[in-house]
Amino acid sequence: MEKMSGIHSEKITVTHTELNEDEEPPSKPLYINQEELLKEYFQSKRERDKTSLSQRSTSFLRQYFPETSEKDWNNWHWQLRNSVTSIRQLSGFLNLSDNEIRPNQTINDTLPIRITPYYLSLLDKDNPDHPLRRSVIPVFDEFLSSPGEASDPLSEGHDSPVSNIVHRYPDRVLFLVTGFCSTYCRYCTRSHMVAKDKCHIGKKAWEPGLQYIEQNTSIRDVLISGGDPLTMTDENIEYLLSRLRAIKHVEIIRIGTKVPVVLPQRINRSLVNILKKYHPLFLSIHFTHPEEITLEVKEACAMLADSGIPLGSQTVLLRTINDNVEVMKKLMHELLKIRVRPYYLYQCDPILGSAHFRTPIEKGLEIINGLRGFTSGYAVPQYVIDAPGGGGKIPLLPDYYQGREDEFVLLRNYEGKTFRYPDFT
Ligand code: SF4
Repeated sequence: MEKMSGIHSEKITVTHTELNEDEEPPSKPLYINQEELLKEYFQSKRERDKTSLSQRSTSFLRQYFPETSEKDWNNWHWQLRNSVTSIRQLSGFLNLSDNEIRPNQTINDTLPIRITPYYLSLLDKDNPDHPLRRSVIPVFDEFLSSPGEASDPLSEGHDSPVSNIVHRYPDRVLFLVTGFCSTYCRYCTRSHMVAKDKCHIGKKAWEPGLQYIEQNTSIRDVLISGGDPLTMTDENIEYLLSRLRAIKHVEIIRIGTKVPVVLPQRINRSLVNILKKYHPLFLSIHFTHPEEITLEVKEACAMLADSGIPLGSQTVLLRTINDNVEVMKKLMHELLKIRVRPYYLYQCDPILGSAHFRTPIEKGLEIINGLRGFTSGYAVPQYVIDAPGGGGKIPLLPDYYQGREDEFVLLRNYEGKTFRYPDFT
């Protein structure tokens, strides 16, 4: 397992006594600053061998996987192999309620289920209203279609010049490189494409997308998404990043992922060593609720941030999950503490069977109103609607601009007081 401890935030003093505790140091001669080199070597060894985990995960592991070692639990391949993929399996972990789908009831035509054991360990076993549980457990409401819903509400198919590329804005593209996620969110905008039979897309199928990017010199920004790109092998990630980085006009590469939140074990030294070779590289991490920010997630984000990767968050506004100011403020504060800059708050897209997740737009405005001015500007994400039909992201702001009075503009501040700004030009 290649998982790290919280050492990034601490100043470590290494003594020779400590250095001798684990194993023989490397045999090659150490000419320059021997102490520093030894420190680096053993620090990296500790990261590789790290097997500690949060109290919650420890109890869950002992209860449900008593034969499994902490080392295996901390291995992302083990997490994927042991993910829950059926309602029958799920019923062994949770007491399913009447509105949740139970064994012997079919979920055909809806998004398949997949949850890592790690994320499952965060769910409340008995409470169907638990926010994290609601985001990943299928319920009967998913079968109810409402007006305005569609399987591909953003019409990404219409803006796809070649397979796996969505080219909607002038200078950037979305590159959908896999249809697989380690954990499926029930409100997923791309539920029409993720988790399908051929969801592992792979190198050959990326070729038209890569050639399209190579041939279009206006593309300076590539957002790699899916599915979840960080569920791919190191080799595939490296291949993809190296191909993109070799294109001169591609200035920045972004990766959209929920892996640090649902499979933090994946953020290991070998992955980070690959990612940091392809700067400027940004990560947009999908967070939903402050309860997701566990010890494991903090360590994963520390490792990414320490490698110089700017981290931003994307959060979908979800009814009774995170739709109030206090929960959202707590989430944004916790994100800043782990060096993730709140970036977008999305209005939930109207995919089929999503009415139970969606809030009125006023709710999103109320939340922004409750953040702006009441906390640091860094903690205020941009609230956007991805316009149905392919209109792109449209920002929404509470009504701070209140019109004009002669040569003055009337502005409302965060406390609701009106101020006049002289605008004589
Ligand atoms: S992680 Fe993203 S792509 Fe995967 S199911 Fe969740 S919302 Fe969809």
